[in-house]
Amino acid sequence: MFPAERLNRLNSVFSKSPMPDRKNIAILGSTGSIGQNALSVIHSLPGYRIYGLTGHSRVELLLNQARKYAPEIVVFSDRGSASDVSIPALPGTSVSYGKAGIIALATHEATDIVVAAIVGRAGLESTWAAIGHGKRVALANKETMVVAGSQIMKLAAETGAEIIPVDSEHSALFQCLHSGNHSGNGNSSEVSRLILTASGGPFREFDSQQMNCVTVEQALNHPTWEMGPKITIDSATMMNKALEIIEARWLFGIDPAKIEVVVHPQSIVHSMVEFCDGSVISQMSPPDMKLPIQYALTYPDRIAGDCPRLDFESRLDLEFHPPDFDRFPALKLGYEVARQGGTTGAVLNGANEAAVAAFLNKEISFTDIVAACREVLDNHEYESNPSLEALLAQDVWAREEINKWIAC
Ligand code: NAD
Ligand code: MG
Repeated sequence: MFPAERLNRLNSVFSKSPMPDRKNIAILGSTGSIGQNALSVIHSLPGYRIYGLTGHSRVELLLNQARKYAPEIVVFSDRGSASDVSIPALPGTSVSYGKAGIIALATHEATDIVVAAIVGRAGLESTWAAIGHGKRVALANKETMVVAGSQIMKLAAETGAEIIPVDSEHSALFQCLHSGNHSGNGNSSEVSRLILTASGGPFREFDSQQMNCVTVEQALNHPTWEMGPKITIDSATMMNKALEIIEARWLFGIDPAKIEVVVHPQSIVHSMVEFCDGSVISQMSPPDMKLPIQYALTYPDRIAGDCPRLDFESRLDLEFHPPDFDRFPALKLGYEVARQGGTTGAVLNGANEAAVAAFLNKEISFTDIVAACREVLDNHEYESNPSLEALLAQDVWAREEINKWIAC
């Protein structure tokens, strides 16, 4: 899939030698919400260096980042957008283009850590390549785990790559799991349950009728988190939690029956682990992605850093409610896919990405998103042990099915 000769040729373009005593970080998707948070974390972190940046359509922003942080490598992944702007000479920075440029950066021998912050299935090949080259991957791109979690974990076991979650819930679970004797292993008999918290999104208290009239503007207005548009819509449908159930299932190798979702509107408790003795360990911090990003870089160490702190001087109320599976049917899809594995993750993810894009384009209604995903998932031809190529083909098929669904 990624011919070695082609990679070597691209790698040779980036021939500068790394600084010896600092960790080189490549941020894939540096112009996004996670990418920008990662830049600000790394900029203030001693011992780490911004080595490479990639961006897709926001060419001016990527150029500004390149001027400000002076990385060795910058990749404009969307050739079309890059050709609209004249790219000036960036002294000390090599410029590259396209998907091959991202993969060359992710696999470059000088790259120590890859922050996988591209949104959606578009992040799969570069994350896969980084893991294939045994890198530490600070994983924000949950869709890669949803599409190909089983294959990704197998590959990481073969290459020794470390996958450290950036998704706040999974970072919390990862941290809580270290309270047990079998550090970090969700499959240990000591672990009774992984409890994923969910803010519930902006429509937590909407009834079904109100849900039918939701506008794009309302859905983009998340109560506690500032994120890119796709994950913001996923949070509103609670498809984000469905994707996170699947992500947790593969990342921690746990039986989906041991994963529970709890609505916690304040987004302070980022998730919890219940151990066999009944002890529940939680991880708390303000709703801000800098901490999970920083921890994925510095793990197993903790450093003071610049992340916001909880303020216990003022009153802090924490609520927990069971989720409503009828108003948020995406959750059922998440459990089904986590149980069935095989091709279901690729189909659900592809269908959801296409449906969210259609909702943002005002082609379908808010409640259509999950209804369309349900139908596409039910109609697909299940395969239990697919190759990566078969998964990518199912992704394409699911998107086409959504387009047909819209046309009907
Ligand atoms: P975003 O939309 O703000 O940024 C996406 C980034 O991906 C941008 O840099 C963009 O240039 C790049 N990109 C988009 N399409 C691309 C393509 N086809 N090829 C190459 N690059 C492309 O998204 P985000 O909110 O930063 O989310 C990024 C990932 O992190 C998602 O998988 C999301 O689920 C996950 N995540 C985000 C948050 C958050 O707080 N934003 C929290 C947890 C997990
Ligand atoms: Mg999350």
